[in-house]
Amino acid sequence: MQWMADISAPSDAALAQTYARINAGLDAEPNVAGWRASFDAWDGARRSWKSWSNLTRLRYSQDTRRDDFRSAQTELDRRTPGMTSLDTAMKQRFLTSDARPGLEDALGTHAFELWDADVTTFDDAIASDLVRESELAREYTELLATATVAFDGEERSLGGLGRYLQDGDRGVRHAAESARWSAFSQRSERLDAIFGDLVATRDRMARTLGFANYIELGYKRMRRVGYGATDVASYRDEVARVVVPFAHDLVKRHGAAAGYDRVRFWDETSLGVGGPIAPRGDRPWTLDRTREALAAIDPALGEFVNIMLDGDLLDVDNRPGKALGAYCTMFPTRKVPFVFANFNGTRGDVRTLMHELGHAFQAYSSRDKIAVDYLTPTYESAEIHSMSLEYLSWPQMERYFGDDADAYRREHLLDAMLFLPYGVAVDHFQHLIYANPSATPAERHAMWQEMERRYLPWRDYGDLAHPAMGGLWQEKRHIYVAPFYYIDYTLALCCALQFWVKAQSDRSTTLAEYIALCSRGGEASFGTLVASAGLRNPFEPGALAGVVSAARAAFA
Ligand SMILES: [Zn+2]
Repeated sequence: MQWMADISAPSDAALAQTYARINAGLDAEPNVAGWRASFDAWDGARRSWKSWSNLTRLRYSQDTRRDDFRSAQTELDRRTPGMTSLDTAMKQRFLTSDARPGLEDALGTHAFELWDADVTTFDDAIASDLVRESELAREYTELLATATVAFDGEERSLGGLGRYLQDGDRGVRHAAESARWSAFSQRSERLDAIFGDLVATRDRMARTLGFANYIELGYKRMRRVGYGATDVASYRDEVARVVVPFAHDLVKRHGAAAGYDRVRFWDETSLGVGGPIAPRGDRPWTLDRTREALAAIDPALGEFVNIMLDGDLLDVDNRPGKALGAYCTMFPTRKVPFVFANFNGTRGDVRTLMHELGHAFQAYSSRDKIAVDYLTPTYESAEIHSMSLEYLSWPQMERYFGDDADAYRREHLLDAMLFLPYGVAVDHFQHLIYANPSATPAERHAMWQEMERRYLPWRDYGDLAHPAMGGLWQEKRHIYVAPFYYIDYTLALCCALQFWVKAQSDRSTTLAEYIALCSRGGEASFGTLVASAGLRNPFEPGALAGVVSAARAAFA
């Protein structure tokens, strides 16, 4: 991995010196040209830090059991508040500079909007709480990454259970879910304690910073620009009104077609597909098909995927000790993204790959942006790039699944309709949690059950004790480690489905709009980016109803 050879941690002393030099430059030349030169120096320092911090996080998630990776991650967590302190002071200086109008001409106004949010989220007084928050997140990650269960004759990681959860045999799916949730039951005290500590820590940080509760701080940390909690609440209501009845109907219809008396939780992953659908080859085969698929979609995507595959910029094997899930990261000083995933031999591998490559394509397309703040957008925009590629790659699915491609596409769309209610449930739940920070574990589980009644009324856990008592949310990593990062997926899905609809009538224009959106990176807010791509803002009345009626027609 040549590209990561000389990514290393700048020392505290070197960082302090760099920032002192930038500040001295600003004192000496307080005009637009001086500010512009200092901005570039500051941006360079931030790019180096980001490359090192992202590489440290990647290595740790690749093997949470390795002492050297874990101690590097601990060092990063310990040092991050110091770096944030330096950056916050610099952002304050830029925000209040007399040269700001000239700088906005050169850098764009969005960076200033982001910094306006950022500077409210940090004070040296919360430094120790930030370190504590990272420790707790690490504990959660390790608890699940190292959990194993005996299943099908082997001791397996939770990630390794994945393919059994989608098995064509209902009994196997049930047994796999039972094994999975017994691992959560056995760790429930720890899971409750970690979360309780996280909520208390976040609530304390919010109050120290002068916010009423963590909800306000959470929105600022997510750098939400142009909308707030009231807009999000209306959107959730719209999902409950427009999507939930349709999703419920889809569950009933597909359950009846499969011959189930009632649809249980372990059936939901298999609705709409007759049996298991899997790529018809191993990992290298799947990656080779991906090389062909992206080239067939568009030459720009083809060129990009070659860089990823030839450059060793993916780690997709599931291994013991590897963190669960999938994500895309990037190394700004190397101008390359990296995809992390856990393949398990199911159709999900292809979907995850398209999703993460969508993120990576955006990161690659906007690698030369003027400010590190613009390399990736805020998450509700970022998830448009990833989710849209899942849909724009639909015509390529025969390469992976042969005759099963139609079933893959049907299940994917059905999953989208079930996901919207689940996604807003996760969001609504977090609002309840942080509005009531002193709730007990039992009260938190009851809050989740209230969300399930509202948004997932078809849910039936049968004899799965842990989810039946309201514990399903504990598998959702975002709830622990990235609070309020979830509504983003539902907003982005509403946009991705609009691309899906448009591509059916005008594929080439839609692809051009998608590629243009990716190349804008994070240079503008969600509302601006969405409008520039010719999409309707999900907060706009009727936007959600529009995509749901297209899905309804597809299932008619
Ligand atoms: Zn994503």
